[in-house]
Amino acid sequence: MYWDQLTTKTFRDQVLGQVDTAILPIGSIEAHGQHCPLGTDNMTPWHFAQLLNARFSDRILVMPAIAYGHTWELANFAGTLSVSHETFRRYVAEVALSALNWGIRHLVLLNGHGGNIPALYAVMEDVAEHGGQAILVNWWQDYREEILTVVDSQGHAGEDETSVMLAIHEPLVRMADASYNPYRPKYRVEALGLHDKVLRHATTGDGRRATRAKGERIVEIVVERLVQLLEDVWTDQLFFRHDS
Ligand SMILES: [Zn+2]
Repeated sequence: MYWDQLTTKTFRDQVLGQVDTAILPIGSIEAHGQHCPLGTDNMTPWHFAQLLNARFSDRILVMPAIAYGHTWELANFAGTLSVSHETFRRYVAEVALSALNWGIRHLVLLNGHGGNIPALYAVMEDVAEHGGQAILVNWWQDYREEILTVVDSQGHAGEDETSVMLAIHEPLVRMADASYNPYRPKYRVEALGLHDKVLRHATTGDGRRATRAKGERIVEIVVERLVQLLEDVWTDQLFFRHDS
């Protein structure tokens, strides 16, 4: 079910006491190479959430997405919109805690943007402090191993993300403008003046190698893994156990 499509009456009748799991898609508006749309990081988690809703429409609520994220590194590229880490963290946390008031116990933060991650760790602690269970999914990191069976490399507007965009919103992708960033950081480093290497043309990796077929396969992988995640949540299988 989509949270914002219910009436308060249907919410009372069909959700309260019956649905305890919500998906909160979270993204950003930021430059994605010269070839992918500014809303790429919103479109990918939203697409995954729609596919989960199709699968589990009576068991989950898909919340309206948090569309504005924290995007310091890309702030100087035309069209990027960014809010501070602190504002973002508080806003997401308050939305999440508000959902807990209506019986949501399991909250999946389905994130599409790397710059949001530090704040989302803090949000998870806020949710936990208030009795909920927060699960953060950064799809391109969490499912990296399987994604790399489909593409040779990953990157921001790189081969994997561009492929996914070709699969879900092909008309919005301008492959003629796709580019390659030959630089890769050796260290975790931030400084003004590094952006032409860290995110040359607002890219890491090689968006030129993307194809729609690769993207369709990655979407399948991500959704299979998210389905497994929800089933593990509902059967309390959140840990591996290794006895020595
Ligand atoms: Zn992205």
